[in-house]
Amino acid sequence: MQFDDGWTAWLTETAPIIQRYGATATGFVNDRYVHNGRITLDELRRLQDEYDWEIGTHTANHQNAPRFVQSNGLDAWLDKELDPSLALLRGAGLRVEALAFPFNASTPEIAQAALGRIGSYRRVDPLALADGVRPDGSLPGTSIDTAQYAPVELVKKWIDLAQRRDVVLFLYGHRVLPDSAFTVGRVVAVAGNVVTLDRPVELADGEENVLVPCVLRRQAAQSVIPVTAAAGSEVTLADLPPGAVAVGSDVLVGPSYGTRQSDFEEILRYASERLHFYTIADVRAGRHRLAAAAAPPPETVP
Ligand SMILES: [Zn+2]
Repeated sequence: MQFDDGWTAWLTETAPIIQRYGATATGFVNDRYVHNGRITLDELRRLQDEYDWEIGTHTANHQNAPRFVQSNGLDAWLDKELDPSLALLRGAGLRVEALAFPFNASTPEIAQAALGRIGSYRRVDPLALADGVRPDGSLPGTSIDTAQYAPVELVKKWIDLAQRRDVVLFLYGHRVLPDSAFTVGRVVAVAGNVVTLDRPVELADGEENVLVPCVLRRQAAQSVIPVTAAAGSEVTLADLPPGAVAVGSDVLVGPSYGTRQSDFEEILRYASERLHFYTIADVRAGRHRLAAAAAPPPETVP
């Protein structure tokens, strides 16, 4: 389980939930989130020391690395984006060995250069299963954010597959948010770019909200639709391509970079009965193989 960017809620809300399921996580921190106070170095140390989280780097300024390198060169990227972040986080006593590129954007050349300083990086893969770090230094990752909405039933299938193949499933998100930040409802009317649901919709303040057109299917990032406003049960969308939302379908409205808490806990509960939880560092050290040999996870009821 991994989280990106950096929020105090990782410590105050997410880590205690995860701990209840005997789980741990890796948090990839972008320095900007430390500088603007969304999370502090002290909070990151507490995640590491009190909750056994691993802290990784998500670079200094959240730049798209291939674009940055194209304009400024690889040395400048190492100088301005990777090294300052490693210095800040390691200087604060955090054992930083893993990297998640902002937007998961990298090239083999940039990844190779980064691997001179860190132990692994994340590469997006829709089915994120692996037995350990791949020959190119990457570990896969698939998102559980609303923006790439994955139904809980689908995530459970991935968990089953990880158990059957005896490999690690790598999930990442940004924040776990209370269910009240989300609405699941049935579409009763579509007119222009306004969708009417069978219940009132309240948008979470200060969030980038999106509408997931169908909760039965996984959504690619492009197929969720930005929400501009909600009043009563009417949701106004930035743009509604013809046929994108059907009357009678069940949709989800909520923050783009969030995971609904009840979904998250259901995933944790299901996984905790079938798998063990590891940090990226555990996987890199091969601890998942040792533990699996010593204490096989409980058998699933067929
Ligand atoms: Zn990010």
